[in-house]
Amino acid sequence: MSYLFVCSLALVGLTAATLVACGGSEEEKTTAKAETTADVINWKMVTTWPKNFPGLGTAAEDLAKNITAMSNGRLTVKVYAAGELVPALEVFDAVSRGTAQMGHGGAFYWKGKAPAAQFFSAVPFGFTAQEMNSWLHYGGGLKLWEETYAPFNLIPMAAGNTGVQMGGWFNKEINSLADFQGLKMRLPGLGGEVLKKVGGTPVNLPGSEIFTALQTGTIDATEWVGPYNDLAFGLYKAAKFYYYPGWHEPGSTMEALYNKDAFEALPEDLQLIVRAATRQVNADMLDEFTARNNTALETLVNEHNVVFKAFPREVLIALKNASAETLEEVAAADPMSQKVYDSFKAFNSKVRAWHEVSERAYINARELE
Ligand code: CA
Repeated sequence: MSYLFVCSLALVGLTAATLVACGGSEEEKTTAKAETTADVINWKMVTTWPKNFPGLGTAAEDLAKNITAMSNGRLTVKVYAAGELVPALEVFDAVSRGTAQMGHGGAFYWKGKAPAAQFFSAVPFGFTAQEMNSWLHYGGGLKLWEETYAPFNLIPMAAGNTGVQMGGWFNKEINSLADFQGLKMRLPGLGGEVLKKVGGTPVNLPGSEIFTALQTGTIDATEWVGPYNDLAFGLYKAAKFYYYPGWHEPGSTMEALYNKDAFEALPEDLQLIVRAATRQVNADMLDEFTARNNTALETLVNEHNVVFKAFPREVLIALKNASAETLEEVAAADPMSQKVYDSFKAFNSKVRAWHEVSERAYINARELE
């Protein structure tokens, strides 16, 4: 990327520092020019998302663009959608062995590699987006995530959050827990383990395969993300009933994976740029989903006649109890999972106590008449 191009971008942003830099002395310009002609590092990013998929795929694209622009082109990132370089569910291995230097996806896909990974994407009846980010960045969660991925030569970072997801698409009504008996549902991660406990069969499919599986009856139900993404996938054409809330994914964190050798070989300033760009996309995705979900939900209900329903109270209570048992079992089966779950539980009790008198008290207060 040319120096002039970056300066024209900076002028749009109009910060004092960049204006000084762009209008700087000849000496400064020469220095900046020299940097752009220095060795350029080219990275590949593999993702679990279809090309330019709204919210998730576009976040990966934005992350790549931001790293390239923020580094003034010293570190360029080329994005590969699922299947372009490696299939969606091989992203973890591809970055681990260095086929690509980075990846973007969701940690719940890797439970077969590292069971503890699931706790860093979504925990049924667990953290909201706000709580998840607090645990990761100020409650020790990220350190444990790094420890979980270290044996795979990977450095993880939070790189997006969808907020509370939807309960999913079903081809029949869910009136009691018995309706989950024998139900084949695309439901990855810990939510899938809970489904198993209540008699269903979880299926782990990447996004690109969901629509066909649901339409052909290979699966009876699926969850994906929320209205904004689900509308884009056309899931309303394959199942009639749309349930809320997404008890299984209350604040799903997306991840950026970095090959440890590639990351550590970067000079310190580029490492900081990568961290800052990743943190930015982590916040930005939540903003986008929060802004767009309700409009998409209105389209689904008003234009596509989706039957939109809340899970019955008894069903949610049963799923909550099954989740608590599942989490204890998953943790007990693996020492790293137990360590992560202990940290999760300790933070959970504190953050819930705080949110009782802050978020919940405020949301209740603003509904008063
Ligand atoms: Ca989901």
